[in-house]
Amino acid sequence: MPLLVMKFGGTSVATLDRIRRVAKRVGREVANGYDVIVIVSAMAGKTNELVGWVEETSPLFDAREYDAVVSSGENVTAGLMALTLQEMDVPARSWQGWQVPLKTSPVHAAARIEEIPTDNINAKFAEGMKVAVVAGFQGVTEEGRIATLGRGGSDTTAVAFAAAFGAERCDIYTDVDGVYTTDPRISQKARKLEKIAFEEMLELASLGAKVLQTRSVELAMRYKVPLRVLSSFEEYDPNAGTLVCDEEEIMESNVVSGVAYSRDEAKVTLVSVADRPGVASAIFGTLSEAAVNVDMIIQNISEEGRTDMTFSCPTNQVARADRTVQDARDKGLINFHDIVVDNDVCKVSVVGIGMRSHTGVAAKMFDALSAEGINIKVITTSEIKISVLVDRKYLELAVQALHDAFGLEKAG
Ligand code: ADP
Ligand code: ASP
Ligand code: MG
Repeated sequence: MPLLVMKFGGTSVATLDRIRRVAKRVGREVANGYDVIVIVSAMAGKTNELVGWVEETSPLFDAREYDAVVSSGENVTAGLMALTLQEMDVPARSWQGWQVPLKTSPVHAAARIEEIPTDNINAKFAEGMKVAVVAGFQGVTEEGRIATLGRGGSDTTAVAFAAAFGAERCDIYTDVDGVYTTDPRISQKARKLEKIAFEEMLELASLGAKVLQTRSVELAMRYKVPLRVLSSFEEYDPNAGTLVCDEEEIMESNVVSGVAYSRDEAKVTLVSVADRPGVASAIFGTLSEAAVNVDMIIQNISEEGRTDMTFSCPTNQVARADRTVQDARDKGLINFHDIVVDNDVCKVSVVGIGMRSHTGVAAKMFDALSAEGINIKVITTSEIKISVLVDRKYLELAVQALHDAFGLEKAG
């Protein structure tokens, strides 16, 4: 039997009515002759509520218990989806992560999938089950504890199942009808892309476009899973949505294909650190041990053997970063005069594989920002992206200015 993986995000399963609506879609694929693995998220808002409860109960929570609580949202949806399908006479049952069992690394709240054995689910398909409804975002560690895959992790569950079961395709149903040139909620001029290359999607996701979790794109790329993003709110159309595929499948590539942003960034400067070998290693080694996600790094020019070291990290990690470097200073591991934190910045990035063969993209980007009077605080580049940190109040303006400057509203 050919097999499809269909993943439904939080807004697509936000109410019993919506669950019934998407269950009909699943039923249609069963009628088309497919066995289906459905991956579900928690109902919209549920995971945030659960995270809030954990933080209120225990600010410095035990991540294993965090996972026990936040994974529960998906369990509810999986059961409800299986019941809905059964009501439609579609043979279905639900599976929690540990029942599959989807095995993960022991890094709670940010676990990685290690293995998905297919025998349990395949045995049920062989007995006539048509739909396996799997709770997304969760698995089980070797120690038998529940672990979650990081926010947005149901996308990764879906792609991993598609790879493990050799699915014909992995369809990610969400609240927008595809991947756009930028977040359609920020720019009305955002244009839906028919296709996007894995590499570009990977950059957009890792730079903040939350339409797909970064890890899901990595897996799709590695295991060559045909991945489609489409809306669960629109009428059925077999060609709907955006296909994430190999670069070679895209006829024409733009120099820049998308603009991404990440709203909650902070810029941290350690003032006056010694400018000698081993200092950067000591600072960033300590931060990494404390699991601070350092993103951009700049080291300023040196004067009289001392320099300033600036890095960026998510705003909710600033307290930990601050404590970590202060502790390291107290222990004599590192040395600096002062720490200066700017909590009101955001990161805006342009992405495109065409950048590999074109020059002048950075100049055009900086020009567009300066025309709007937006000051750039930090810049980083890689082969197919350029990112800048700017004041958060300019986020929308910067995204729109760059979208205009690179002509993204026009069909490519
Ligand atoms: P789900 O709950 O279905 O997983 P998410 O909220 O995680 O949905 O992801 C969908 C959201 O991603 C959209 O509502 C949109 O605001 C946002 N988004 C950000 N960048 C993009 C982009 N380039 N294209 C499409 N959507 C984007
Ligand atoms: N429910 C989880 C979250 O909100 C996982 C997901 O929806 O992908 O992050
Ligand atoms: Mg999501």
